[in-house]
Amino acid sequence: MNKAAFFDRDGTINVDTGYLYETEKLKFIPGVPELIKKYNDEGYLVIVVTNQSGIARGMFTVEQMERFNEYMNSRLQNEYGAHIDAFYYCPHLPEITGECDCRKPKPGLFLRAIHEHDIDPAQSVSYGNSERDKMASFAAGIHDYRGVDQL
Ligand SMILES: [Zn+2]
Repeated sequence: MNKAAFFDRDGTINVDTGYLYETEKLKFIPGVPELIKKYNDEGYLVIVVTNQSGIARGMFTVEQMERFNEYMNSRLQNEYGAHIDAFYYCPHLPEITGECDCRKPKPGLFLRAIHEHDIDPAQSVSYGNSERDKMASFAAGIHDYRGVDQL
């Protein structure tokens, strides 16, 4: 089984400017790219788990979000020698698209990643900046949760 370091995206990896999809607005939170590199080097899968309700709200498309994620990964690679192995996102918003099982604090995104990458949650760690990140991590069996203020 694999071990993984899970990261929330907005407000954890990058400065949260609100419904972010424009690549030119990407600004890394100091120390986080280096932390991702450390997990790369230690043999962890690095997986981003992110709520992206801007898709349900019609503020940006899945393609625009994917372009942003690819840009983030290319900058991590080029500037820090780091990389993210996979991105998991929830495009929903209950008020618009109905309930789903993936929007944090629900654990659906974590559970899907754990299943698809044969991850042992007990050997894994999760970084976030909100109570919903913590709740989703715990519900998926990842008890090593760290807030970004602990970086
Ligand atoms: Zn969802």
